Amino acid sequence: MQLTPHFTLAEMTASSTAQRLGLDNTPTAEALQRLVLTAAMLERVRAHLGVPVIVTSGYRSRAVNAAVGGVTSSDHAIGSAADIVAPQFGAPYDLAKALAPHINALGIGQIIYESVGGKQWVHLSIRTPDKPVNRVITVHGRNTMAGIQEV
Ligand SMILES: [Zn+2]
Repeated sequence: MQLTPHFTLAEMTASSTAQRLGLDNTPTAEALQRLVLTAAMLERVRAHLGVPVIVTSGYRSRAVNAAVGGVTSSDHAIGSAADIVAPQFGAPYDLAKALAPHINALGIGQIIYESVGGKQWVHLSIRTPDKPVNRVITVHGRNTMAGIQEV
């Protein structure tokens, strides 16, 4: 099922953890509606970057989110977030740096540059956090920093 021209439901719900553990990762009707909005935001990001965007993690059902150790309040669990990389553009840090100044125009509620366990990616959510300081942050292991920081 195509959600938007460049993003499919399969891509937004793919989960190696769900597959490995036999967990259902079918979105609820509400989550599906949000996934369409999330995919629309990713289309704007793709157009802004001028290169394909690869979703490494999109929707996670409550069971899948718990299995990957995600926080219970995760925007992934409601279909509002996607973790992305864009190798043709550059490293995730460069990607985060390029997107952060344009979050309002791109309809990004929150951007997180994540560097955890030697892996890096960019988390994008269509939900805007309550505290403005949390809109653009870097997560490095267990540390959270304001803004996009090279870690
Ligand atoms: Zn994420």
